[in-house]
Amino acid sequence: MYDVQKIREDFPILSREVNGKPLVYLDNGASAQKPQVVIDAVTRGYAEEYSNVHRGLHYLSNLATEKYEGVRSTIARFLGAKDEEEVVFTNGSTMGINLVAYGWAMPRMEAGDEIILSVMEHHANIVPWHFLRERQGVVIKWVDVDATGALDPQAVLDAITPKTKLIAVTQVSNVLGTVVDIKTIAAGAREKGVPVLVDGSQGAVHMPVNVEDLGCDFYAITGHKLYGPSGSGAIWIRRERQAEMRPFLGGGDMIREVHKDGIIYAEPPMKFEAGTPGIVQQIGLGVALEYMMDLGMENIAAHEAKLAEYAASKLQGLNWLNVQGTTPGKAAIFSFTLDGAAHAHDISTILDKKGVAVRAGHHCAGPLMDHLGVSATCRASFGLYNTEAEVDTLVEALELAHELFA
Ligand code: PLP
Repeated sequence: MYDVQKIREDFPILSREVNGKPLVYLDNGASAQKPQVVIDAVTRGYAEEYSNVHRGLHYLSNLATEKYEGVRSTIARFLGAKDEEEVVFTNGSTMGINLVAYGWAMPRMEAGDEIILSVMEHHANIVPWHFLRERQGVVIKWVDVDATGALDPQAVLDAITPKTKLIAVTQVSNVLGTVVDIKTIAAGAREKGVPVLVDGSQGAVHMPVNVEDLGCDFYAITGHKLYGPSGSGAIWIRRERQAEMRPFLGGGDMIREVHKDGIIYAEPPMKFEAGTPGIVQQIGLGVALEYMMDLGMENIAAHEAKLAEYAASKLQGLNWLNVQGTTPGKAAIFSFTLDGAAHAHDISTILDKKGVAVRAGHHCAGPLMDHLGVSATCRASFGLYNTEAEVDTLVEALELAHELFA
């Protein structure tokens, strides 16, 4: 049974106050809080087990290497990957997507070639492709969402032409909470020989993921949203795609031999991992993923689905509140504006006075903001430790903001 009160005790920060009020942390979409086991792993990593990895023959280096490398199989298990060597360590999704842009897309895309994106992508899944547009004439084709925020997988597939080289799409919108039907997109794209990159930054947080079942080619995750340390992450890259990639960053660790007149690269995944990595961060991510898997991803998803339903019903009752994104089964992410002139930043400041942490702004989703016709929204994003009582506190704080600005 999912005992949310007990789970909350695992997260020390949740018992603190903010502005004299108990913290109601609803900014999980930006970054999630860390359970004690992760904090302990990071502390132990530095206090007792620290050394650089891979290069040493001494005890601590071997220990750190073993722990660090062990995370690859944890991530593979978390993502349902059958081969841990398909897991490339990164410092977050942004780096993972850039690795694909520079390592896979750049050498194989010519002027006029196309990449399909949805209009609700995060800048991390836009700007790397824009670089290719700016530098080598690649065309970005945008697929809109409908009025509820749903993305029709068929519309994505219909956008494919003989020039399409890649579909890059989020699994869950960080603004609307929309869940994208990746499986249908990947199956249709595969028939037409088009690889699919999935930005799993939000998706992997809220639902069980199985990359084999999804049928995609690349799947990026970012550790700090997965209750792990910032500066940790990975991208799963299907073997056949790895074989098509050239390295992105050059330096130590990604080579087997370096001579004055030639270099032999290491085999993947090391080929894509240059320089000293975030050793302790990655070890912390492994512990965070074990923590989530112990709770059970199905259980987390079920808890959050109930929360999402409860929050949706409460927020719907506020007839001066405009919630963006109303697709059934959406993740527990609610972006909204208030009727009248109040700016999202002012609303979030009022909420903060009540101890409620939300995010306000464009959420790194410029094209979506344009599509919605707003410059900014407030966003309440829920995680595995949030409760219905916290939804009630949010609603009370919103009522106060509405009174002040009405
Ligand atoms: N993609 C989505 C959907 C996100 O929500 C985020 C973070 O907000 C990112 C990508 C970028 O993640 P990071 O900054 O951790 O690389």
